[in-house]
Amino acid sequence: METAVKASLKNVTKKFDEVVAVNNVSLDIYEGEFLVLLGPSGSGKTTLLRLLAGLEQLTAGDIYIEETLVNDLPPRHRNIAMVFQSYALYPHMTVYENLAYPLKIRKRPEAEKRQRVAEVAERLEISELLKRKPKQLSGGQRQRVALGRAMIRQANLFLMDEPLSNLDAKLRVQMRAELRRLQKSLGTTTVYVTHDQAEAMTLADRVAIVNNGVIQQLASPADIYFHPINRFVAGFVGSPQMNFFIGTYTQGQITTDHFAYPLLADITQKLEEHGKVEKVLLGIRPEDIEVGKTQTEGAYPAKVYVSELMGAETFVFFHFSGTETFLSRTSPDFSANMDEDIWVSFKDKKIHVFDYETEVAII
Ligand code: ATP
Repeated sequence: METAVKASLKNVTKKFDEVVAVNNVSLDIYEGEFLVLLGPSGSGKTTLLRLLAGLEQLTAGDIYIEETLVNDLPPRHRNIAMVFQSYALYPHMTVYENLAYPLKIRKRPEAEKRQRVAEVAERLEISELLKRKPKQLSGGQRQRVALGRAMIRQANLFLMDEPLSNLDAKLRVQMRAELRRLQKSLGTTTVYVTHDQAEAMTLADRVAIVNNGVIQQLASPADIYFHPINRFVAGFVGSPQMNFFIGTYTQGQITTDHFAYPLLADITQKLEEHGKVEKVLLGIRPEDIEVGKTQTEGAYPAKVYVSELMGAETFVFFHFSGTETFLSRTSPDFSANMDEDIWVSFKDKKIHVFDYETEVAII
């Protein structure tokens, strides 16, 4: 079955004077999906969202919502619901009045208001709070009211800009799960901006990695993590970060300052097929580096810089001959002292190789 497109951006550019906030972005947003825009500060995520909402004028390109060209349509005519970081509720109104407000300004009948508020409040488990004022609510409860207010109309698109960022860590995790369940059960098409990877990975059907006003990769969270298409995505997604080694590729092997690493046959084949490449970046995630106290086949000698027990796992920072440290994420059973000699080896199938010049992934 073909998935229906709910909204599209076609060659969208937004400049603020000489700053190019969004640079020729094309993107289809599918009906019912949870699309997360993830990227560092200043990458253009919020501007993309504001363009969709109609809060910014396009410099170039077209935006369609449900096949209607909306370039010149003001926000109120786009049938979009928004939840922002500062979930401004009206302080003098009760929860009920806050929830009903979007229907009130659209002059909907009293009976409809009562029914919709009751439905939404039940979904969000805030039925008991309807008579309270916002200042009598916890942060999480306020957040749910803000979500409820966005959900009260059946909007075409939900746009959310870091809606959980004002909550404490525990509540964020809880609200994240609730948001996910809610969005799936309602089937609302949602575009969600965050710079928090965990949020992106857990909430998204698809993640768009944004950098310098460009979508670097648009894929499922698993694809983004396991098959990053360039060095930026590889380094940005994953915490702690992927280890990178500068190396030279020759005949089935990558040689770095620290080791000569023989590659699996199928990886060699892909590198050969790729064509002429010499200088490469070998990328290995911390969980794909194994450490041990005894020498095993294919292991390289290294020294512990510091070892940190995190509870469920241990982070072993180590170095080879130089000063640069690398990281292995290993079982909490492993413990080692500072400067202790260890052996490190790589999970051969899990490695990434990037062209050093273009930074594009070859493997
Ligand atoms: P953050 O995570 O920090 O919110 P972001 O990815 O949402 O960042 P944007 O807010 O979209 O980034 O900003 C993208 C670029 O556009 C930045 O360089 C920013 O300084 C610039 N910019 C955004 N809004 C304006 C504005 N109204 N006037 C001038 N420059 C702007």
